[in-house]
Amino acid sequence: MYGLGLFKGLAVTLKNAVTPGRMFTTHQYPNRRISVFELAKASSTNVISYAAKNPAKAVRSAIGLEWVPDRWPQHPRFRGEEFTWYEQRCTGCASCAKYCPLGIIRIVTDPSGRFVQEGEKYAIEVFDIDIGRCMFCGLCVEACPYDALHMGSGFEEGRYTRSGLVIDVNRLRTQPKRPSNWFRPQLEAKDYNPHSGKEATYVDVGRHEKPSEQKQEVKWAKRL
Ligand code: SF4
Ligand code: SF4
Repeated sequence: MYGLGLFKGLAVTLKNAVTPGRMFTTHQYPNRRISVFELAKASSTNVISYAAKNPAKAVRSAIGLEWVPDRWPQHPRFRGEEFTWYEQRCTGCASCAKYCPLGIIRIVTDPSGRFVQEGEKYAIEVFDIDIGRCMFCGLCVEACPYDALHMGSGFEEGRYTRSGLVIDVNRLRTQPKRPSNWFRPQLEAKDYNPHSGKEATYVDVGRHEKPSEQKQEVKWAKRL
């Protein structure tokens, strides 16, 4: 029957609106208001003693002006939007760009005047990721054969312009290296947690070491 789905949807909304425990699902972020009761509890005291010792804070919390930081823990495999890239591991092969279903990774490499041999590394001039259009599927990360590209661990990338959402090579080079554990069992095996604040080096994030220049030459350039 036409329209039945609409009423079913409204019934779900109504159920969530009146069921205790489901009513207040909006979570204040990154800070939330704190009541004088919570402040007293955090100080292991009662409200009266707390208010007597901290009258200004008690009044501020009573009128909703006292805030505390409130961040929910994130899983180490959270696919953050800022990406983490290791130039030391990147060969400029552009597999990530080719596999991106939205075509939002732009890589420009520079072999000119250098006579780059097979197996050698291109100089990377442009490495743009337009996260304004990214759906964080992670296919680019899966496609990277050298563990050079990883999902990030952050999510606070709001900008006033769309162009500000393009992560460029300078930012990729300089931002803190806190890769997500997503699709990286080698990081999980090391119990690496990007939310601990610790950075992971290019050695930590690789499943194997990059072959030496000599090995590359033997394997790829001379085809022995
Ligand atoms: S996460 Fe998906 S959409 Fe985003 S850049 Fe990578 S492949 Fe493209
Ligand atoms: S990040 Fe990986 S897939 Fe992309 S160009 Fe570098 S090595 Fe190739």
